Amino acid sequence: MTRRRLVAGNWKMHKTPEEAEVFVRAFLPLLRRDEPAEILLLPPFPSLDRAGRLLEGTAVVLGAQDLHPEISGAFTGGVSAGMLAACGCRYVLVGHSERRSLFGEDDILVNRKLRRALTAGLVPILCLGETLAERRAGETARRVAAQLAAGLDGVSSDDVERLVVAYEPIWAIGTGEAASAAAAEAVMAGIREAIGSAYGRPARDGVRILYGGSVTPENVGPFFAQSDVDGALVGGASLRPEALAGIVAAARPHGA
Ligand code: PEP
Repeated sequence: MTRRRLVAGNWKMHKTPEEAEVFVRAFLPLLRRDEPAEILLLPPFPSLDRAGRLLEGTAVVLGAQDLHPEISGAFTGGVSAGMLAACGCRYVLVGHSERRSLFGEDDILVNRKLRRALTAGLVPILCLGETLAERRAGETARRVAAQLAAGLDGVSSDDVERLVVAYEPIWAIGTGEAASAAAAEAVMAGIREAIGSAYGRPARDGVRILYGGSVTPENVGPFFAQSDVDGALVGGASLRPEALAGIVAAARPHGA
């Protein structure tokens, strides 16, 4: 098993450039010299540049929370993949449930964004997840499979092998009520199998799948005991340096 675990902090609409700097200066000394996990911060757009400069030469990489699907043009308020790459971003979230529900993003737009990210050399983190009503109706696997297939439409096996999928049950995001590690593993194993069926074994074995939804240092341990959980996408807890460092510290390698 060679997949390196990834711990990603999604700051959402929090932290000015100044506050991002305070966070980074407090966070970096909390990390061990050779953390087994890859560590990723996802600040809001205005704080990317400041955070990116401070992270240069460190073990922490930079990503963004969204991108525009077009290369450039008259798209007021849009931020292109090229701009993100120029700020030092390596990753970008696509299809976060808040973008889908609050900004009206559908699977077609998510797919366009994902493919634009890949073209620009960014690694997309494709977010999937079911609502509470879908879960109660036994629709989780079907819902997640549909989002996965639509999000990856037209993407090559080679690209699937290097991208990241985040399984985030919507009812667990920001609620303090995480899924159980076993329930998350069951869905995530299904995602990996679906990728294997559609894109072949290298893609199945290479794609990294993160769990997201109310992850804290206190509850993350059992998730990292699961073979299909390749990391965590962390919202609220990522705003506090000690909490994010606690999650990173728990992220042991697969099989360790
Ligand atoms: C998220 O925003 O992707 C998330 C998982 O948030 P939280 O950890 O706060 O539930």
